Amino acid sequence: MWRGRPTIYRPESRSYYFLPSIQLPEPITAIRNEPAILNNPIEYLRGVGPQRGELLKKELGIFTFRDLLFHFPFRHLDKSQVHSIREISGDADYIQVSGVIKTLEMTGEKKYGKRLTAVLQDESGVIDLVWFQGGAWIQKTLHLNGKYLVYGKTSYFNGRWQIAHPEMEPVTPQNREGKNYLDPIYPSSEKLKVRGLGGRAIGKLTRTLLDQLGPGDIPENLPADILEQFRLVSRFTAISDMHFPGTEQDHYQGERRLKFEELFFAQLSIGRLKIHRQQVSVGVIFEKVGDLFNRFYHGSLPFALTGAQKKVIREIRKDTLTGHQMNRLLQGDVGSGKTIVALLAMLLAIDNGFQACLMAPTGILAQQHLQNISGLLKDLSLKPVLLTGGIKGKARQKILEDLGSGQTSLIIGTHALIEEQVRFASLGLAIVDEQHRFGVAQRAKLWAKQAIPPHILVMTATPIPRTLAMTAYGDLDVSVIDELPPGRQPIRTLHRFERYRSQVMEFIKGEVHQGHQAYIVYPLIEESEKLDYENLMKGYEEVKAYFPDPEYLVSMVHGRQPADQRRTNMDRFVRGQTQIMVATTVIEVGVDIPNASVMLIESAERFGLSQLHQLRGRVGRGANHCWCILMTRDRGGREITERIRIMLQTTDGFAIAEKDLELRGPGDIEGTRQSGVMEFRVADIVRDKPILEAAREAASRILATDPQLLYPEHSRLSAHLKSQGSGSPWGKIS
Ligand code: ADP
Ligand code: MG
Repeated sequence: MWRGRPTIYRPESRSYYFLPSIQLPEPITAIRNEPAILNNPIEYLRGVGPQRGELLKKELGIFTFRDLLFHFPFRHLDKSQVHSIREISGDADYIQVSGVIKTLEMTGEKKYGKRLTAVLQDESGVIDLVWFQGGAWIQKTLHLNGKYLVYGKTSYFNGRWQIAHPEMEPVTPQNREGKNYLDPIYPSSEKLKVRGLGGRAIGKLTRTLLDQLGPGDIPENLPADILEQFRLVSRFTAISDMHFPGTEQDHYQGERRLKFEELFFAQLSIGRLKIHRQQVSVGVIFEKVGDLFNRFYHGSLPFALTGAQKKVIREIRKDTLTGHQMNRLLQGDVGSGKTIVALLAMLLAIDNGFQACLMAPTGILAQQHLQNISGLLKDLSLKPVLLTGGIKGKARQKILEDLGSGQTSLIIGTHALIEEQVRFASLGLAIVDEQHRFGVAQRAKLWAKQAIPPHILVMTATPIPRTLAMTAYGDLDVSVIDELPPGRQPIRTLHRFERYRSQVMEFIKGEVHQGHQAYIVYPLIEESEKLDYENLMKGYEEVKAYFPDPEYLVSMVHGRQPADQRRTNMDRFVRGQTQIMVATTVIEVGVDIPNASVMLIESAERFGLSQLHQLRGRVGRGANHCWCILMTRDRGGREITERIRIMLQTTDGFAIAEKDLELRGPGDIEGTRQSGVMEFRVADIVRDKPILEAAREAASRILATDPQLLYPEHSRLSAHLKSQGSGSPWGKIS
């Protein structure tokens, strides 16, 4: 039996693309579309009508025959077998038996314990049937000595087998042997149930619909050789077996085929997008390695680059010479040194007469990038400019003017960079740091402004599991910094219960006495959450009690502070004027203080795995020994225990990201939620990884020979893409 997600499928909300491109490829010509019958409004279906039609639209998003066809059951009941009563053996099994009602009576007291009981008998034995509710009414519908098919969950009570609230159906010549298909149960809603459209009624409608359809109404959309190679059933069979399979195996095969189809077309679209970008799109060319780059590289580089950093710079250099747009994802674990790569890439752009921007998710990070990069550039004539939301009035006006005139060539900022009024004279490279905090639409704005789209480099410290990389990020080229700068100390991770708080604080004291600094981080998932805020304040007072003035100094940083106060507090910690930093996750990404040797995470059970990993990465930046302490309440669920266990076990960001995806499911991974890329109807990229890989393989093989899908044997593919509204996916992106 399958476990599906009762999601509502809304075609318009599905989009596999999140990076826009400006030029459109030639649209695919439609060769054949699905026949018109599937487009019929749902109210035209026998048994629906205007009123129920309205309800189906409102409650389940079912507007047409097609929508109903793709509203799949979340499970099936196996009524294909009729068992004998003697076969009943285990508790809580669903079973179908057939027999004669030998007794039928209301028992028990009026108010309390009143119930309808019956004894059902077949050749092998007897079983009790019982109804605790609605007995009086059910009694009227059943006949003593009548023969019934009985379906329900068995239980053992008072030494006898019974089925409570069984489904009853009179035996007829047709159903004597059981049904020849599995009974589907559909997702429905309370409102629908009240109006007679529960999970079963929807099944009846689907049956009515399927009886009207033939294979020609659900035409095949995959080429014959792919069907053969992967042993996939036809589209018609698959859809009909999703609803009314003869056996579980039929259902499995139907589902497998639809999963393949879904993933395959996603891969095909992504692949076309990528090919288009790599081969057709027009991008600016960074022809030369110029003065700024060379002077910096040979004169100002504070350390030797790692091999991995050099490799990425070569990749960027190559991309920006092709004349096509670069769209590169740079993955590198926390502390792997992405900033210097970003800076070198920006120098390359500026040397070639273009502007470059670096966009960070928070003001603190933008500020830190500015300081960092200004420091690195101090011997060069280049001065980076900062633009954040906090900069207003005349100062802002000036910054915008200088950007528009081309006076400013290097700008660092936050979301403020993508506001409507911001105009670049000639933006050649946009770098997005820690992209998980940026919504898709926000990023799109950045390059939609240019006649020729700038090159894009998206940097992330949250490693993206392969499955996600293949789907959500499938149209990007990927670079990986898989080597940490030399001299890093491994971080030791510990788990402590809150009742040992005083020992933990003593430990931190010891570190502070050795001249180190410590972070104490509180969960504040939503900065507006009142309770979290109060906890943070309580925590701060507690920390101050352990670390009293004036011997110790404590900074606090959180999202509710005015920006300048936050900056001052941060600065004091960065300069080593305070030893303890009490903070929320605003410090999660990017902040770099080598002298910090302890990261204490309060209520660690409330953080996701990737978030814990990010926080842990804040220490271990210098050559110190360092510690990450996860503090939790005494008891936690299994998932929490599992998360802590993984954190104690590994510091490998990729392994952690894979686990995170497994534990939380793709829908929950930060940053993909808002992108809408994970909305697969039947496929699940975690559980269906092998299918995903097969689909990807098949799609890239086709695109390798026929990127435009012009060959006759690919006509089904192009027709389907077109009918999905993604024949020209570029058109969907705003
Ligand atoms: P992240 O990838 O997390 O953004 P950063 O760019 O902030 O990492 O770099 C982390 C720290 O490592 C910084 O202090 C940086 O100066 C240092 N660093 C980066 N590259 C090297 C290198 N090749 N050798 C030594 N230190 C480096
Ligand atoms: Mg960084």
